[in-house]
Amino acid sequence: MKTHRSDVLIIGAGPAGAHLASLLGRAGLTVILLDKNPAGEAGAQWVNGIPLWVFEQAGLDKPGPDEVHGAGARFTLIDPTHQARVSILAPFLLDIDMREFGARLLRTAESSPNVQVFHEILIQSFDIDTHGRPQRAYSQNDCFQAELFVDVSGLAAVVRKNTPFLKELCPGVEPTDLCRAAQEVRHINNPLGALEFLEIQKAQSGEILSWVGIAGGFSLLRVQISQDLKTIAFLTGTRALFGVPSGAKLIQNFVAKNPWVGDKIFGGQRAIPLRFPYGNLIAPGVALVGDSACQVYSAHGSGIGMGLLAAKQLAVTVIEAAHRGQDLGSLTALWPYAYEFHKQYGALLAVSDLSRRFSQTLSPYEVHQMIAGGMMTEGVLKSSLLQQQPEVALGELPQQIRGLFTAPGLAVRLGLLFAKVPKILWAARQYPEQPDLQKVIAYERRLLKWL
Ligand SMILES: Cc1cc2nc3c(=O)[nH]c(=O)nc-3n(C[C@H](O)[C@H](O)[C@H](O)COP(=O)(O)OP(=O)(O)OC[C@H]3O[C@@H](n4cnc5c(N)ncnc54)[C@H](O)[C@@H]3O)c2cc1C
Repeated sequence: MKTHRSDVLIIGAGPAGAHLASLLGRAGLTVILLDKNPAGEAGAQWVNGIPLWVFEQAGLDKPGPDEVHGAGARFTLIDPTHQARVSILAPFLLDIDMREFGARLLRTAESSPNVQVFHEILIQSFDIDTHGRPQRAYSQNDCFQAELFVDVSGLAAVVRKNTPFLKELCPGVEPTDLCRAAQEVRHINNPLGALEFLEIQKAQSGEILSWVGIAGGFSLLRVQISQDLKTIAFLTGTRALFGVPSGAKLIQNFVAKNPWVGDKIFGGQRAIPLRFPYGNLIAPGVALVGDSACQVYSAHGSGIGMGLLAAKQLAVTVIEAAHRGQDLGSLTALWPYAYEFHKQYGALLAVSDLSRRFSQTLSPYEVHQMIAGGMMTEGVLKSSLLQQQPEVALGELPQQIRGLFTAPGLAVRLGLLFAKVPKILWAARQYPEQPDLQKVIAYERRLLKWL
């Protein structure tokens, strides 16, 4: 068995893992980045929506033309009865071809002499010392020794699930909190069929049509026919519940009903954790990043942006610790990562999770009431797509209030929901600045109580 040594071992070479590797490598730390998948197949390999602001905040160049699958489109949200819609122009949202973007991030990481990238290495087990800290990670033929093990292995969460401390404090995501998502880009066989579809939907080519609540609360069928009528892109997601069709099944059903849709060009399907991020993002010798930490804007199951932002914050923390000559895996060294992440995004992600939980309880008719009654305004839609905290827009208030009067039952439920927001915002500010496990446990408990 061959032993490899590095300052940091990153397990999972998706965008967040690759970005973290290049930031650390550029700062002079030795890094091994590995993935169980072959080269070109790590992380998301489909089209993902990412708000523009994330790139700058994560310290990344804006995506180039080969990485942008779509940008600046009109985004239209449609209720399950097809009778009501709310529509905005969304120049701030990029649909990114993750195959190209992921490849760019990996190339950047590999260009650093301090970063070694290994493909087709499946980490299976760890040596854990008496303090619960991993010392070595093992694949079938290799052993990896590092001061810090970063878990960017997505839902597999191979470090989190094999580290006693995190295994106990970070419960696995319940099936009821999983989104079965699918994304596909397909040929259009018959442009006339596509045009007819657009006419029926009163929509233009290039416009993103997003049906919400079509397969129960928290479900999505998003369709975009390209400007040139040559391709159609789908994004779907449903909760992983018995009797609820998966995201992939929603696409199959659409294709079966619309024979003008042709073969798949590329795409994929997987589950996304829908949960507020764990309070404990670190443990001795370990940091969690991305889906393994549930760093997901759960209102629409978007984890790419949050994963990149977390990677940047972890890099800042680890580089500072290295400059101070600290043990990179010590809790004192890693704490600023957990603190800064929760300080900056805890409230946002908690409110997002509140709205995700609420949307799961909505009946199709209530979704209709939300959109037709004007409670779901352009401003609310915009902040959700931007993955930013919704703000009260005075101009939209009269429309929202009128809508509440037309749906008294829903108005009561929304009232109860909004009453929780100040408590959540308060609770989200309580993450301890200094290492204190009891306070982190209390932080997470308080937030979960109000969600
Ligand atoms: C169909 C679909 C559409 C989506 N659309 C969007 C969107 O529009 N916008 C958005 O922001 N998010 C979207 N998401 C969510 C987003 O893709 C995930 O949140 C994101 O990919 C998580 O990144 P990650 O790096 O944490 O994990 P992953 O992307 O899951 O990467 C984990 C990597 O770890 C590797 N790995 C796992 N176990 C091991 C092991 N034991 N040893 C070695 N390697 C291992 C895997 O091979 C994988 O490459 C979508 C998800 C799906 C499924």
